[in-house]
Amino acid sequence: MLLPAQVIQKKRDGKALTEEDIQFFIDGFTRGKLPDYQMAALAMAICFQGMTFDETMWLTRAMVHSGKVVEWRHRPGLYRADKHSTGGIGDKVSLILAPWVACCGVSVPMISGRGLGPTGGTLDKLESIPGFHTNLSLDEFVRITDEVGCAITGQTAEIAPADKKLYALRDVTATVSCLPLIVASIMSKKLAENVDGLVLDVKWGSGAFMRSQEASLELARALVEVGKRFGKNVRALQTDMNQPLGRQIGNALEVRECIEFMSGQARADDLMEVTAALSAEMLLMAGEAKNVADARELLQKKLEYGEVLEKFAAMIAAQGGDAGIVQRVDGLPVAKQKRAIAAKTAGYVHAIECGQIGYAVIALGGGRRLVSDRVDCAVGFEQPKKIGDRIEVGEPLMIMHYNDEASGREAERMVREAYTIASDPALNRPRLITRRIE
Ligand code: URA
Repeated sequence: MLLPAQVIQKKRDGKALTEEDIQFFIDGFTRGKLPDYQMAALAMAICFQGMTFDETMWLTRAMVHSGKVVEWRHRPGLYRADKHSTGGIGDKVSLILAPWVACCGVSVPMISGRGLGPTGGTLDKLESIPGFHTNLSLDEFVRITDEVGCAITGQTAEIAPADKKLYALRDVTATVSCLPLIVASIMSKKLAENVDGLVLDVKWGSGAFMRSQEASLELARALVEVGKRFGKNVRALQTDMNQPLGRQIGNALEVRECIEFMSGQARADDLMEVTAALSAEMLLMAGEAKNVADARELLQKKLEYGEVLEKFAAMIAAQGGDAGIVQRVDGLPVAKQKRAIAAKTAGYVHAIECGQIGYAVIALGGGRRLVSDRVDCAVGFEQPKKIGDRIEVGEPLMIMHYNDEASGREAERMVREAYTIASDPALNRPRLITRRIE
């Protein structure tokens, strides 16, 4: 067995690590026997030198086994599937997808995260529902998933603790954006859930972790391959995140949009397309539909019959939240002020620096600058102008919901800077669902 410094040196010098090296390192780090500085040094060496596919697999395995793997003792034969998104702006898909797919006979145990960089987090959104608990114990998570059909919680101390510790370290040592570390981090949590199937929404563009299509495709392929090697049914959709998804951005505003979507009051086309496509993949995996058309038909029926909203309410109630919110969205936190951010030039929206919109939400207090920050759930934006839209002087680029004038001014400036408006109407728009990877 090598010393920790020798393992770091091996990777620093571009050599491949053995399964034993990796296991030893992750084990020591999880138990607190190996200090953060050695783990950080290894993470940085991995960022510079990369990892082979086998090393990535071993790292993933070591991280899965740093904690417990969920045991599904009840309801044998039930297909369990989850969905993971690499994160975006206005990406509220999980809130709709979990109850939607659960209505169609697939069990959806979902472990989600908080906002990361400019991207919003499912847990922060759900916490804008009064009373909603996102810190279920593993037993509660299993019980609620079995009883309701879906549950959404945060990573418990028992699930992939090595990832929890390593992620916090990566966040402050500039080692987040590194393919093998991302793959091991995402897949360790998902494999610890012990689901049968997993659908990945791997985003690319100005509001995504991976800005280029090529980088996100490489990530999607690696995630799918690792999942398959672990015997799971894994598919990915690569989706465009060059503009906010849907009509609302910000925690409580997004919950409101989800409720309006499920109740049929308003449904943004892009949100429908991405959510339905990912949900359909899950039904196909589970054998609940023979083909995409059948899956879409089943999903549409569940939506029309109001079952999805009912399931969402049942999940809220089971997780301690006020389920009545689905009938009176005005019970969600509301900001004190709102105003339109009026365009100063006329033309067509050519591009949106979408990450800036995410940072503008943070500027309003709707996300964290520090891990310890409290999130203001009420703030955000609605009705963003989208790429290709015509806009006149004085028309709103978006409507801002805010609680503080100074942060409102800062966020308004950021939103204006995020938009590129040109006189030329011609645009070459990429497809929203760019590619399917299996
Ligand atoms: N999400 C994760 O869970 N881990 C990463 O490393 C990146 C995104």
